[in-house]
Amino acid sequence: MSEVAARADRVVTVQGLHKSFGPVEVLKGIDLQVVRGEVVCVIGPSGSGKSTVLRCLNLLEQPSSGTVHLLGTDVTDPDCDIDRVRRRVGMVFQQFNLFPHLSVLRNCTIAQQKVLGRGREESEQVARRNLQRVGLSDKVDAFPLQLSGGQQQRVAIARALSMDPDLMLFDEPTSALDPELVGDVLSVMRGLAEDGMTMIVVTHEMAFAREVADRVVFMDAGLVVEEGTPSQVIGAPREERTRVFLQRVL
Ligand code: ADP
Ligand code: MG
Repeated sequence: MSEVAARADRVVTVQGLHKSFGPVEVLKGIDLQVVRGEVVCVIGPSGSGKSTVLRCLNLLEQPSSGTVHLLGTDVTDPDCDIDRVRRRVGMVFQQFNLFPHLSVLRNCTIAQQKVLGRGREESEQVARRNLQRVGLSDKVDAFPLQLSGGQQQRVAIARALSMDPDLMLFDEPTSALDPELVGDVLSVMRGLAEDGMTMIVVTHEMAFAREVADRVVFMDAGLVVEEGTPSQVIGAPREERTRVFLQRVL
């Protein structure tokens, strides 16, 4: 592949990312690349910096040093229009952050209208299509608190998809769910992966990572300790720290 083509294919390029909160260095030099259509699962112990990496990608946290290229834009360049880039990135958190006073449909149309300037009819069409995709066509008129946690999380995914993102970031999307609700959310995510969505997924669901990830990144103490295919990293880890972590979660 030519260098230009290689760059066009690059959705995320993180180089030498450092992040400190006060005196505490939380990210100690992260390098990470994600190409179009790739599904990368990030695993690692609590406190290792996984969420901070995701948040640095779209500048929800300001990196202390290093560079982050997102969709061809250097977001660490002070002149970058971060809102334009953020619009193309969907983010799904452990807590669903839906608007409780708005219907499911309205939750999925409001940003389309306010941020993308879509009209009501088009935004509702897009929202209905994505609610169907996550299996919630019958809930368009419900309010978030009438839904199970798993259903709320699927609304959050439909809402993100309704912005037609080029990249989806998931931060432990199933960690707050009762065990019996986890499967529906993971199968929606598996469907997105099969449709070719570029995704970075922070997760403790090793079976999901093994099955769906193109690449697994193991982080510990602010560093990428090891990365590779799921069968390499989860199946045959090279590093002692990876083995210790996997023994705890598997
Ligand atoms: P993970 O997602 O892997 O559990 P985080 O990225 O949330 O890890 O956190 C990494 C470390 O950074 C933790 O020690 C956490 O306490 C600290 N941290 C995260 N956000 C902040 C913040 N806003 N202020 C201070 N410390 C923070
Ligand atoms: Mg986290």
